[in-house]
Amino acid sequence: MERVRLAIVGAGAAGLMAAYAAARRLPPGSVALLEGNPKPGKKLLATGNGRCNLTNTHMGPAHYHGDVEAAGGMLAGDSVGRVLGAFSRLGVLTRTDEEGRVYPYSLQASAVLRALWQGCEEQGVSLLCGFETTAAQPHKGGFLLSSKAGGRLWAGRCVLACGGMASPRHSCGEKGYGLAQSLGHTITELRPSLTPLSCPRKDAAPLKGMRCKARAALWAAGREVWAESGEVLFGDGTVSGICIFQLSARLGGRQGEVVLDLAQDFTAQGLTAYFTSLQRERPALLARELFSGVLNLRVGQHLAKQLGFVGERPLGSLSSGELRRAAGMAKGWRLPVGPCTSWEGAQVTAGGVPLAEVDCRTMGSKKQPGLYLAGEMLDLDGDCGGYNLHWAWLTGLAAGAAAAGASIT
Ligand SMILES: Cc1cc2nc3c(=O)[nH]c(=O)nc-3n(C[C@H](O)[C@H](O)[C@H](O)COP(=O)(O)OP(=O)(O)OC[C@H]3O[C@@H](n4cnc5c(N)ncnc54)[C@H](O)[C@@H]3O)c2cc1C
Repeated sequence: MERVRLAIVGAGAAGLMAAYAAARRLPPGSVALLEGNPKPGKKLLATGNGRCNLTNTHMGPAHYHGDVEAAGGMLAGDSVGRVLGAFSRLGVLTRTDEEGRVYPYSLQASAVLRALWQGCEEQGVSLLCGFETTAAQPHKGGFLLSSKAGGRLWAGRCVLACGGMASPRHSCGEKGYGLAQSLGHTITELRPSLTPLSCPRKDAAPLKGMRCKARAALWAAGREVWAESGEVLFGDGTVSGICIFQLSARLGGRQGEVVLDLAQDFTAQGLTAYFTSLQRERPALLARELFSGVLNLRVGQHLAKQLGFVGERPLGSLSSGELRRAAGMAKGWRLPVGPCTSWEGAQVTAGGVPLAEVDCRTMGSKKQPGLYLAGEMLDLDGDCGGYNLHWAWLTGLAAGAAAAGASIT
């Protein structure tokens, strides 16, 4: 049976970074990286639409959900320097957009994966693909790891970096939660996050395939919880888009409402004044065309229909109250929404191993000596914008360095 000083389960963002951080501190051949898929980094390649939004300069705990308090100072702004320092050592230059999103300068996720894997290879990491780890047992002062295909490996220390439940097509079948539980950890309730939101088919389905710019505000329990501006996409009983993903992280498992302001550059009074002057100038225009000068035509017709502006009714017949209501609808179209329960469309997993069960300086397990945990399998999830990969890199760096026995820089 092969024996290594350190085994890392999962060759995703966190596992690759942990392997690189550990191998830099150990003799070649000390680190084995075990991946269930035929190749490493499948999800990493899909990130940021293939461009890999790897971190964000607006870093801070406000962009995270879950065990944020337990993460303490880990998520402070200076952690970005730690991550970018690692990429700079790997030769990956970056560029930052106006919203602080950091990408590889090449805008290729494949360049990030290649640099990480080449860095690991140069430091003598051995990669075992197709090693879907099904058991990790404490054994002779270390861990005995077994694979679905019957492989066995002994490692002095072990990092679990198995990712989460989100987007299962990018991850191997066996998840790491069972491994963590078998080694004494608990798992909080798991929920898909950064997902589309479900909404009644009658509201969204007629607009299926449409995109429009809006300010999207999430309302739950009678108050505005969060708002984001961006593109909203309508599906068959769903709304999505990055701004909606951000709201999904704040909706949790609840029901709520998304209020869309489709005419952000106007006040409700300004819009009413515009409708009133349009009515004065063109009283014979069909009322269902009221929104045609301001909103996407299909969206406008849909709102007009909901307001009862149908058939041959002319604009001149609308009362001032109806014009005000129309302006109110364009400024605040309320859609009842609920969480999406499917993992397929989710970008990240909410819930996981509580951070209270690890030492957040080293990512070392408080339940099992010699065990470390990193990445999405922990109970911390971030907003869209590079925050989830940031967490994966940061915890990978800490776990790899600590598991190699080095002090954390
Ligand atoms: C489409 C999409 C786009 C995204 N874009 C961004 C983005 O631009 N920026 C951002 O910050 N975040 C993004 N995310 C989220 C981000 O990809 C994840 O948060 C991040 O990859 C988590 O890293 P990880 O290493 O913890 O898990 P993963 O990257 O999922 O890696 C875990 C690895 O472990 C392997 N594995 C699991 N169990 C076992 C086992 N038992 N044995 C062996 N191997 C195992 C899996 O096959 C996988 O390769 C995106 C997610 C998706 C789905």
